[in-house]
Amino acid sequence: MFKCLLIDRNEESGYRCELTELDEARLPASGDVTVKVDWSTINYKDGLAITGRSPVVRSFPMVPGIDFAGTVLASDHPRWKAGDAVILDGFGVGETHWGGLAQKARVKGDWLVALPEGMDTREAMAIGTAGYTAMLCVMALEKHWTEAGMAPGTGEVLVTGAGGGVGSVAIALLAAAGHTVVASTGRPEESDYLKALGAAEVIDRASLSAAGKPLQKERWMGVVDAVGSHTLANACASTRYGGAVTACGLAQGMDLPASVAPFILRGVTLYGIDSVMAPLARREAAWRQLAQRLDRSRLAAMTRTIGLADAIAAAGDILAGRVRGRLVVDVNA
Ligand code: NDP
Repeated sequence: MFKCLLIDRNEESGYRCELTELDEARLPASGDVTVKVDWSTINYKDGLAITGRSPVVRSFPMVPGIDFAGTVLASDHPRWKAGDAVILDGFGVGETHWGGLAQKARVKGDWLVALPEGMDTREAMAIGTAGYTAMLCVMALEKHWTEAGMAPGTGEVLVTGAGGGVGSVAIALLAAAGHTVVASTGRPEESDYLKALGAAEVIDRASLSAAGKPLQKERWMGVVDAVGSHTLANACASTRYGGAVTACGLAQGMDLPASVAPFILRGVTLYGIDSVMAPLARREAAWRQLAQRLDRSRLAAMTRTIGLADAIAAAGDILAGRVRGRLVVDVNA
C-alpha cells in the first residue's frame, strides 16, 4: 500500500482531491520503472490540477504531482536499476499519467533523469520543475548573450513573478553569474527576501501589468518572464536593442497583447521555454548546471517543507500568489 493524493470527479461530489491509500497494483501498467518517491513539490500547474481551476488533468482518477525525486525500486528499462536516484519533471505526469504526490510512482524510464552529482533528492525537489524551468530560461539567455557579445554586468536583467518559484531560482542563478537583476513583484513586503537572493533592485509589478506603448525606453538586456499577458508585452517593448526575452509562464494571463515593433525595430528575440517535453540532453544539462551553480543557502532560504496532506491547501495558496519561493512536499510525512 502507498499514500497518495487522488483527484476524481463525479456528478455527486464534483471535482475533488483527497489523501488516500492505494494498493501498489493500481500503479499505471504503462510504466516500466517503479520509484520510491522521497520528495515532490507544489508548482503552479499542480495548483491548477488539484483545485481543478484549469483542465490540466485529462484522465481520472489521477494522482497529481508534475515532478518527484526518489529511488528506483524496480526497473524493466535498460538505463535504470534498483537503487538509482532519479528526478522526473513533466512529460504529462500528474496530468495524463499518475504523478509524484505519492509515496510510489511507476513511470516510463525514458522520462527520468539521473540525480546529478552533488545534489540530494530533497534539493532536487526544492528546485523542482519551477527551478529547472528557470535554468532553461537562463541557459537560453546565456546562449543568446554569448552569440550577441553581451557580457554579464553590462545591463539589467528583468525577472517577473519574482517572488514565485521560477522567479526566485532565476534571480539566484542570474545574480551568481554576475548579472544586475531587477525583480518585479506584487509583494513589496518581500523586497528584503528578493535582495537576499541577489536582486539589485525591486520594482512594483503594477509598472508592467497594464497596457503599454509598443516601444518603450530601452532597459533590459534580457528578461525571464513567468507572467505573460501585458507584463510580457511591456517586457519586450522595453528590452534593449539585440536583447532577449524568455517566456515560460502565464500567472497574469495566457494572452500576449503585443506588437511586432520590438522584434522588427530593435532585433529583440523572444524565446519560448517549455520544460514538459524538453529533450533529454537539455534536461540533463539543466540539472547538471543547477547542481553546480545554484547556491544552496539561497535555495534553503526560498524553500518551505510541507506534508502530503498539506499539499491540498497549498494548491489554493500558490494560485492566489501567496507562496513565496518553493514548496517541497515530504510525501512520507
Ligand atoms: P508561482 O506561483 O510560484 O509564481 C508565480 C508568481 O507570479 C507569483 O508568485 C507572483 O509573484 C506572480 N503573479 C501571480 N499572479 C500574478 C498576476 N495576476 N499578475 C502578475 N504577476 C502575478 O509559480 P511558478 O513559479 O511555479 O510558475 C510561474 C509560471 O511559470 C506559471 O504560470 C507556471 O505555469 C509557469 N511554468 C511554466 C513551465 C514551462 O514549462 N513553460 C514550467 C514551470 C512553470 P509576485 O508576488 O512576486 O508578483
